[in-house]
Formats: sequence, C-alpha cells, structure tokens
Amino acid sequence: MSETIERIKCLIIGSGPAGYTAAIYASRADLKPVMYTGMQMGGQLTTTTEVDNFPGYPEGTDGTAMMEDLKKQAERFGTEVRFGLATEVNFSDKVGGIHKITIDGTKEIEAETVIITTGATAKYLGLESEERLKGGGVSACATCDGFFYRKQDVIVVGAGDTAAEEATYLANICNKVTMLVRKDHMRASKAMIHRVEKTENIEVLYNSELDEVLGDNVVEGVRVVNNQTQNKHEIEVTGVFIAIGHTPNTDIFNGQLEMDETGYLVTKGKSTKTNKPGVFAAGDVQDHEYRQAVTAAGTGCMAALDAERYLGSLE
Ligand SMILES: Cc1cc2nc3c(=O)[nH]c(=O)nc-3n(C[C@H](O)[C@H](O)[C@H](O)COP(=O)(O)OP(=O)(O)OC[C@H]3O[C@@H](n4cnc5c(N)ncnc54)[C@H](O)[C@@H]3O)c2cc1C
Repeated sequence: MSETIERIKCLIIGSGPAGYTAAIYASRADLKPVMYTGMQMGGQLTTTTEVDNFPGYPEGTDGTAMMEDLKKQAERFGTEVRFGLATEVNFSDKVGGIHKITIDGTKEIEAETVIITTGATAKYLGLESEERLKGGGVSACATCDGFFYRKQDVIVVGAGDTAAEEATYLANICNKVTMLVRKDHMRASKAMIHRVEKTENIEVLYNSELDEVLGDNVVEGVRVVNNQTQNKHEIEVTGVFIAIGHTPNTDIFNGQLEMDETGYLVTKGKSTKTNKPGVFAAGDVQDHEYRQAVTAAGTGCMAALDAERYLGSLE
C-alpha cells in the first residue's frame, strides 16, 4: 500500500490556528516540522470574512487572509506545508517509539512526535437557506459573531448547554433573543436553564423548529414551525445562531487515543499530552469549551513546546 516511507521529527496534522502556531514554534525550535493541511487549508476561519477578536488586528481581518499570514510565518522558519489528509494512524505506546501515519491512503510517514490539530466541525440543520446565508447572518459561534448583532433581534437554535450559553451571551449584546427548542423541554443543565429563564430578553419557544431562514443575501427573518400543530409563523431577526453542537474531527484516532464521550481528544492536565508518549493535541480537537482562534493558537504553542521537551528528554 505504501508508496514511500519518510522519517521526520515532528508531524503536524491540520492547518488551522493551532496547527500553524505549533508549526511556527516547532520550526523555530528546529524540529523541522512537516504539516499536512487536510481538505480545509487554513481551517475554520477560512469560512469567515470578519475576524474582529484576534489580537494584533486593530481593524479586524479577513479569516482567509489571516490564515495565509500564519502559513507564511510558519514557512518562513522552515515548516513544510503539504496538502494531504491523514487517513490512518498507528501510534506507538513506547516512550521514544515511532508513530506511523498514512497520508491519502498511500504515503507513510514515520514521526518521532505528532501534533494533532484537526479541529472540530459545527453541526448545521441542513437547510438550503441556512447554507446560503452562512456569513450573511447565519453563524455557529456567538462569541465570534454576536458583536455584529448588537442591539438587534436574533434567533438561537438548540436546547443543550451550548445553546443556553450562546443565548445568555447574546442576551447581553442583543435586543432580544428567541430560542427555538425542538422538544417541550430544554436538555441543558438545570443551572443553565435557570440562567435562561431569569434573563428577561430571552424568549424560549418550545416544540419549535427552524423551517426556513428568510432573506436573499442577508438574514431578514426566520419561518418557524410548531411541530405539534404544524402552524408556521415568521419572526423578524437579523442573526441566526445554530447551536446544536460540534463534531470533533477525530474518527481516524478511534481506538488509538483516549477521547471523552463526545469524541474530543483528552489531554493531560495543563498540557497537550495525549495518552500516547510523543503525541500531542491542540486546538478545537481537544477543546469543546472555548473554541476560539486565539485559544487554539495558544494550545498550538503549548503542543510545540511539549513536543520539543519530550524529544529533549529522550536525548
Ligand atoms: C464561521 C466561523 C467563524 C468563526 N469566527 C471566529 C472569530 O471571529 N474569532 C475566533 O477566535 N474564532 C472564530 N471561529 C472559531 C475558530 O475558527 C476555531 O476556534 C479555530 O479555527 C480552531 O482552530 P484549530 O486549529 O483547532 O482547528 P480548525 O480551524 O478547525 O482547523 C482544523 C484543520 O485540520 C485539518 N484536518 C482535519 N482532519 C484532518 C486530517 N485527517 N488530516 C489532515 N488535516 C486534517 C483541516 O483541514 C483544518 O485545516 C469561527 C468559526 C467559524 C466556523
């Protein structure tokens, strides 16, 4: 199966803010990292035009441009950025062991250290109008985009802790938040439900689903369907926040690395160490809590430092 086998010191899987930051640090530490970008070169931020909260950009920046800058910075210090997908991994259990990673089903890499930064993917409902208006008012991240809807009316779709958190976050910024909950109750924790209930400008509509996002180029409203009566009504809003969860991109690590019950990689304490020596994880793939570019970048830095120290300890 394998076309070629290549032996390297440090392999970085994924090219989001965590991957590129790990690459900057690892290349400056002379680990000669090789990065495989995956199908989404630059990661999730390449799907947004407005990044307003990454430090160092006083006027904000375009997500794709920012990721191009990070790529150039990583390459400047010698990171080899390659387009390709890790399709299979076989991690060693031994300290100092060699990890085997297959790229695109054909090429085999043997790596002394591996930094996993494969991120997570936001779940959407799958409506055509939702897809069309992504970036035009439809978002999956209140922390990222809430600011753009200051003093406006918005919808949050979802019933779990994430939805409740997004709704209370938005309630501080927006005029009114309407939550659409599919069942006749929320499945968020009691504490979060209590926070939602005592927030005056949040209205919860139970047994309610998003039928359509309205608007040609930007969101102008939503059509909501009551799944008990099938009655439909429209609400005028400018923002629609889909908060039905994320899927961590960890399928290929099944059976290889410790994960939590939702598939996020588990790292040890305040480090990026996984349960396999020499394998580190950074960014959204190990963080369902903060999910921000700057936190991903921070843990990317930590992963490179952890990898460098691990290699140093073997000498
Ligand atoms: C629309 C949108 C807007 C956002 N706006 C902001 C914002 O304004 N500010 C902010 O701080 N955050 C924002 N975020 C969140 C932010 O994008 C993420 O927190 C951040 O990108 C996570 O970085 P990461 O490096 O962990 O992973 P990601 O950015 O998710 O990158 C994952 C990388 O892994 C690669 N990959 C996956 N599987 C494989 C594989 N098998 N082999 C090789 N590569 C693989 C992918 O191709 C990708 O390059 C936004 C997110 C979205 C979706």
